[in-house]
Amino acid sequence: MTIAADKTSVPMIEARGIHKHFGGMHVLRGIDAVVPRGKVTALMGGSGSGKSTFLRCLNRIEEPSEGEVLIDGTVITDLRTDVNRLRADIGMVFQDYNLFPHMTALENVTLGLIHVRNKPRSEARDAAAAALGRVGLADHLEKLPQQLSGGQQQRVAIARSLAMRPKAILFDEPTSALDPEMVHEVLDVMRTLATEGMTMVVISHEMGFLRKVADQLIMIDGGLVVERGPTLRVLDAPEHKRTREFLSAIQ
Ligand code: ADP
Ligand code: MG
Repeated sequence: MTIAADKTSVPMIEARGIHKHFGGMHVLRGIDAVVPRGKVTALMGGSGSGKSTFLRCLNRIEEPSEGEVLIDGTVITDLRTDVNRLRADIGMVFQDYNLFPHMTALENVTLGLIHVRNKPRSEARDAAAAALGRVGLADHLEKLPQQLSGGQQQRVAIARSLAMRPKAILFDEPTSALDPEMVHEVLDVMRTLATEGMTMVVISHEMGFLRKVADQLIMIDGGLVVERGPTLRVLDAPEHKRTREFLSAIQ
C-alpha cells in the first residue's frame, strides 16, 4: 500500500467559496473553481461580472473578503503567506502590460529575478534573456517599452512572468489593448506555453483561440459561476441561459 503523496493529483489552484465586497457592493458571491495542473482554464462572462476580481484573488493582488485559495495544495489566503513570492509563483499578465517605462525589456524581466528570486545579477540576466528568447524577443533586449510595439511589450510581460518559473500564469484580457495585427503574435506565444504544459487561467474574448487552446470554460455571471465544463461542450451546447446569451452576443 502506498501513502497518497502524489502531487499530480492535487489541483494547481483551487478556490473555495470566494466572496469579495467593495464597500457595499457584493461583487463575488461564493466562487469555487479548480484549475488543473498543466491545463488551460478560461473565464467567460459579461463586463462587470467579476472575472478580473476573481482572477486577482488567486494571487492576492485583490484580497478575498471570504474564502480560501490553495496553490499546489497549500492555503495562501492567510497571514503567513509571502505575497511577493506568491505573485512570482502565480504570474499575471494584464491588458496594459504594466512594464516599467524607464527600464529596458531585459531590465523589466531581470528585476523580479533579483529582488524576489534572489538570483545573482549575472544569472538573472541570463535567465531573463532566455525568457525573452522564448517569446521571440532575443533581438530586443535593450529596448525600452516605448520602442516596442504593443504586441512586443505584451510578450515582454509574458517573459517577465515566465522567467520566474511560475506554477501558473493568469492572463486578464492580454490582447484586448492590441491592434488586430498584433493579437496573433501574443496568442501564438500563449498557445506554445499551453502546449508545453504551463497551467494557465485566461480571461479572453478570442473565441477561436479558446476553442483550440482552453481545456475548460467557467462562465461567471453576477459574481457566481453559472456554468462550467469542457470547452467544446460549453461552446457548442451551453446549458445556462446566460451562457447562451453571452455567446450569441459576442459571436
Ligand atoms: P469583469 O472583469 O468581469 O468585467 P470586474 O471584476 O472588473 O469585472 O468588476 C466586477 C465589479 O466590481 C464591477 O461592478 C466593478 O465596477 C467592481 N469593481 C472592480 N474593482 C473594483 C474596485 N477596486 N473598487 C470598487 N469596485 C470595483
Ligand atoms: Mg475584467
